[in-house]
Amino acid sequence: MLRENLKDVEDRVARACARSGRNRDDVLLIAVSKTKPVEMIDEIYQEGVRDFGENHPQEIRDKFPQLPEDIRWHMIGHLQTNKIKYIIDRACMIHSVDSFHLAEAISKAAVKNSLIMPVLIEVNMAGEASKSGVAPEDTEALIRQAAQLPGIHIEGLMTIAPYTENPEENRIYFREMKKLNIDIGAKNIDNVNMCHLSMGMTGDYEVAIEEGATMIRVGTGIFGERSYAR
Ligand SMILES: *Cc1c(COP(=O)(O)O)cnc(C)c1O
Repeated sequence: MLRENLKDVEDRVARACARSGRNRDDVLLIAVSKTKPVEMIDEIYQEGVRDFGENHPQEIRDKFPQLPEDIRWHMIGHLQTNKIKYIIDRACMIHSVDSFHLAEAISKAAVKNSLIMPVLIEVNMAGEASKSGVAPEDTEALIRQAAQLPGIHIEGLMTIAPYTENPEENRIYFREMKKLNIDIGAKNIDNVNMCHLSMGMTGDYEVAIEEGATMIRVGTGIFGERSYAR
C-alpha cells in the first residue's frame, strides 16, 4: 500500500513540475515519517527515498541507529534548545529556526561537534497565532543576525501553510514566500544562500511546487493517517 501511495505522490509531483516548467530534480520529496515505525520507513527507503522528516528530536535519535546510514534526516518541527543534542550530529538540515536564541544554540552545538548545520528560517506567512515561525517582515533581520554565527549556514525559508480543504487558498502564501526569498537573496548577505523553499504538505504540495518549492514535506500522502495528532 505504501508503495502505491508513494507512486501516486511521485506522479503528482512529476505532473506539477511539468505544468510549471520545472525539472523534477529541482524538487526534493521529504517523506515525513513522524509517529511511523521503522518498518514503514524501511519500506519507503527500499523504493529509493533517502530523505525523511521528523518533528520530534527524540524520534530522530531513536530511529537513526535502526535504519540505513545514508538516510538524510530533516528536522522539521518546533525545536527546543535542550533537545538540539539529540539531532545535531544526526540531522542533515533544520527547517524550523524561528528565533535568534535557537540559532545561537544550534550554532554552539554545531561548533562543539565541528560541523556546519544547514538551516532554514521558518516563516509564519499567514500570521496564524497557533503556529511558530517568524513574521515575514522580521525575517531579514533575523537572517542578518543569525548569518554571523559560526557553525550554521542559512539556506532559505520554510513555512507551514494553514490547514485548508482547498489548496488554492494557500497559493498566495507560497507565492509571497518565494518573493521574500528572492528579495532577501538579492541582498547578498554573507554566509547566506537562499536556495531553498521548504513548503507544501500532503494537502497542498502541488500548488507549492507550482509556486517554486524546492522541498516538499509529505507525510499522510505516503504513510497514511497518523493514529495520534502531533
Ligand atoms: C507533519 C508535518 C508535515 C507533513 O504533514 P502531512 O499533512 O501529513 O503531509 C509537514 N511539515 C511539518 C512541519 C509537519 O509537522
